[in-house]
Parts: sequence; C-alpha cells; structure tokens
Amino acid sequence: MNNSKLGNTSNVKEYDMAIERTLAIIKPDAVEQGYAGKILDDILGAGFKLLAIRQVHLTQAEAEAFYSVHRERPFFSSLVRFMTSGPCIPMALEKEDAIAGYRALIGATDPAEAADGTVRKKFAQNKERNAVHGSDSVENGQAEIGFFFTAKELLQG
Ligand code: GDP
Repeated sequence: MNNSKLGNTSNVKEYDMAIERTLAIIKPDAVEQGYAGKILDDILGAGFKLLAIRQVHLTQAEAEAFYSVHRERPFFSSLVRFMTSGPCIPMALEKEDAIAGYRALIGATDPAEAADGTVRKKFAQNKERNAVHGSDSVENGQAEIGFFFTAKELLQG
C-alpha cells in the first residue's frame, strides 16, 4: 500500500542530498578594486542560484566571530583588519554539489597556487587579500549563511 509513497520519499531524499548551499563573500579587496560585478558574473555563469545577497561593512567583533576558527593562527589579527577595511558582499548560493563546485570555481587560497581561470587567479592579490570566501563543508555553509542572513531572507522554492 505504501510502496509508491516510499518510492517518492527516497527520490526526494536523493534530490535533497545533491543540492547544497554555500556562503560566498566578495571580500573588501575585490569590492574596493571594482571586481564585484565580474566575480558575480563568474558565479552566476557557473550556474549557482543566488538565494540572497547584501553589502556589509563588518565590525571587528563580527569579523572575529566569523573567523573564530582561525583565532590562534598568526595571521588572525591581520585577517580581521583586512575583512573590516571596507565593505564586503556576502551571498547565499545553491547548486548541486555547491561546496566543491564553488571551491573549484574560486581556486586555491593562495592565488599563486590557484588554477588558471579561477576567481582567485584572476582577481586575488595574495594569500590573505584573496578576493573571495567559500564555505568548506555543508555544515559550515549552513552556519555561515545563518551568520549573514535570516531564513526569511533566502529565496524560497
Ligand atoms: P579558504 O577556505 O581558502 O578561504 O582558506 P582558510 O579557511 O584556510 O583561511 C581563511 C582566510 O584566511 C583565507 O581566505 C585568507 O584570507 C586568510 N589566510 C589563510 N591563510 C593565510 C596565511 O597563511 N596568511 C595570511 N595572511 N592570511 C591567510
């Protein structure tokens, strides 16, 4: 009796597992240099769906909280200074395999090691001022999207 219902449920599950969300940020260096439009063009051209976007100038407390996982690293205070140096553009993105797909689009943390054609290769200055952020896991993506956006602000459906 429940066969078709079970079949539908498992189909929906497979679909849900494939679609992921990531937080992207166009960082202050790229905004300041006028690269935001080109970077957004690369992101949308790669097929990411834009669920939410805003421009924000992070406070020191906000930048420290967002990068708290790096607080013991030697570059932490420099990173916080950089991220609070001007406005940045966070956005919530959705796509099949979004975490790996977005990281492939932006390239390695250090632009010197980033593949040709990647966002960081094209627009980053160095390992710190590296143009964009991307979440490194589905769980962190969810938490990082929640850092900048309420559930109501995300495009539905
Ligand atoms: P990501 O996931 O590729 O952004 O890299 P990480 O999570 O390892 O680092 C977070 C951010 O810290 C990077 O995007 C850089 O802006 C900065 N960062 C990482 N490693 C270094 C470093 O060795 N030196 C400096 N100055 N900044 C770094």
